[in-house]
Amino acid sequence: MAKICCPCGVCIPDISDHQSFKGYILSDKQLFPFYDFADEMIESSHADKEELCMTFRREVGGGYIRMKRIYQCFECGRLLIEDENGEFTVFVPEGHDDTRVLDFSEGKRSGIVKRKPMAR
Ligand SMILES: [Zn+2]
Repeated sequence: MAKICCPCGVCIPDISDHQSFKGYILSDKQLFPFYDFADEMIESSHADKEELCMTFRREVGGGYIRMKRIYQCFECGRLLIEDENGEFTVFVPEGHDDTRVLDFSEGKRSGIVKRKPMAR
């Protein structure tokens, strides 16, 4: 998807990763299946760890574990949330003018797990 257009007229580009105005929503109904799936990948005896990583990435988001995309218009602050059909429902902010609600950084790792870089 190259861009999503907000009712205010601004078109939000979606052409790269790590965007401050884009996020994903995971339903509470999917949270424990998500944890269980991560546990399954971690505890797998499958020898090819890269294949496990790719399986995890493929299945989380639009596969076994469904996440919906969410965008915030950087002009008017509306939230555009993907529905089951890939269309977007628009929510208008009330009582604030924050246009950066999806712009937050990752937290700190516990230090228990160090990830090896994957071969590309
Ligand atoms: Zn807008």
